[in-house]
Amino acid sequence: MTPLGQILARRIAADGPMSVADYMADCLLHPDHGYYATRDPFGMGGDFTTAPEISQMFGEMLGLCLAQNWIDQGRPAPFVLAEVGPGRGTLMADILRAIRAVPGMTDAAEVHLVEASPVLRARQAGTLHGHRPVWHDGVETLPDLPLFLVANEFFDALPIRQFERTAEGWAERQVGLREGRLAPGLGPVTRYPALAARLGDTRPGDLVETCPALPGIAASIGARIAALGGVALIIDYGGWHSLGGTFQALKAHERVDPFATPGEADLTAHVDFEALATAFAGAGTAVTAMTPQGVFLERLGITARAKALARKLQGAALDAHVAAHRRLTHPEEMGQLFKVIASYPRECPPPPGFDPLP
Ligand code: SAH
Repeated sequence: MTPLGQILARRIAADGPMSVADYMADCLLHPDHGYYATRDPFGMGGDFTTAPEISQMFGEMLGLCLAQNWIDQGRPAPFVLAEVGPGRGTLMADILRAIRAVPGMTDAAEVHLVEASPVLRARQAGTLHGHRPVWHDGVETLPDLPLFLVANEFFDALPIRQFERTAEGWAERQVGLREGRLAPGLGPVTRYPALAARLGDTRPGDLVETCPALPGIAASIGARIAALGGVALIIDYGGWHSLGGTFQALKAHERVDPFATPGEADLTAHVDFEALATAFAGAGTAVTAMTPQGVFLERLGITARAKALARKLQGAALDAHVAAHRRLTHPEEMGQLFKVIASYPRECPPPPGFDPLP
């Protein structure tokens, strides 16, 4: 068992089973043994690769989308350019390079990063050297200025709870011990008023996931955008209206048992975009339609950009570039699984690349 597995097994032996959310939180962010707290997991030699690590074009398209919004909103200065869960800082670096083409925007931007991992904060400091980023533990402490924010593969790392509908009512999935090993099980049947609405679209045996931290974080972002202006671009894998179990672990680019190596595999769950849209709208912003990543990037002109970059490449570098474009946009790769949604001021047009919420 991993060191964190031993800690959790002792805790479960003493206190009883823990929720999937508490398990996920410890696995990802335990100060000594958490997955993100102790390592840089990205890239070929790591456990998974994200869109900004695949190609600079991803950040460039997001940067241009932010820039168009900034221009449309009267070029507010100063403004907060924020990223939640910035990983290696690659996406923010690509955004900053793209917006250099927009007169005045770089000077007006204050870079703020919401990051829980000390290891990744150090990595971001290296990547964004010269831009003097300010780090935060949460979105609540971002300055009160117009907020232009991106979050790529952040919300999928937030702990989720899982509830199984039984014949008698909802039972929460928990992590307990079976023959000395961590294993999932079902807690007692309990009334969960928050799940009352889900009795209509589920049957006994179905699994429903909730993300307790998501509404508060999205509402805090939305409230700033409603009051002060700006836009939030949220990119992640998931869909509209969660149903079914999506809790998964990735290690060395392979799916593994999420209970086998706590602290040493990336744990994620699909993001419920309906929950994001509800929280943003509740905070007073307009929300776009949920849009597949491939469609969004094509509308922003990624293919024209790919062709321009391709002119300077040949051989293996050209092949890799063509493959990266396909990986970001093709429906069989990331183009359809990943979705994008934006929160923006009600008095403004939807950001480029999006339709308004129907
Ligand atoms: N956006 C980056 C990294 C995605 S991985 C990219 O696309 O490459 C998830 C990121 O969110 C990591 O930087 C991780 O440390 C951070 N993170 C995870 N949970 C967090 C939390 N609760 N608060 C702040 N940051 C968190």
